[in-house]
Amino acid sequence: MKELIEGYKHFAATADKDFYSELTKGQKPHTLVISCSDSRIIPEEIFSAKPGEIFVLRNVGNLAKTDESSVQACIDYAVLHLGIKNIVVLGHSCCGAVKASEHKEHLDTSGLRSWLAEEEYRGDSTESAEKDQTLRQLDKLLKYPAVKETIASGSLTLQAMYFALSPLKMEVYREGEWREI
Ligand SMILES: [Zn+2]
Repeated sequence: MKELIEGYKHFAATADKDFYSELTKGQKPHTLVISCSDSRIIPEEIFSAKPGEIFVLRNVGNLAKTDESSVQACIDYAVLHLGIKNIVVLGHSCCGAVKASEHKEHLDTSGLRSWLAEEEYRGDSTESAEKDQTLRQLDKLLKYPAVKETIASGSLTLQAMYFALSPLKMEVYREGEWREI
């Protein structure tokens, strides 16, 4: 807790109060990022985004489990109420959730087993398994009504991205292949 209090004090001492005051008028984020809860992966930092620019859903493994109400609520709100223009599923290197899907016997709680039950380790390397897992989330999103209909209307795009910690890189999946940006 001490880290949080000290961290907040440092933030508050340097924060742009006028900018935060403007944020009380509302939010108009352009993108919903579905990211892993992994503490090393911070979408706002990676995308150099300020408060108000991206709407974030974080969970273990950046899963778009569209049969879960918390995931549904986030997508519905972002797409139908906030009118976001893009959904990005952000996979990443060193993902514990992907590693766990290779060795499911290591999932030692019912919460982890239940959350990761549908995930499979597919690929001949950790990176390819992480990328495959990221792409599989797009399939689920494409079947979800709010996403499907908004894409059909031409006002929403869906993208898979893959972030690696070292060497640092970002790849985007386009036209059937991963390309570094
Ligand atoms: Zn992860």
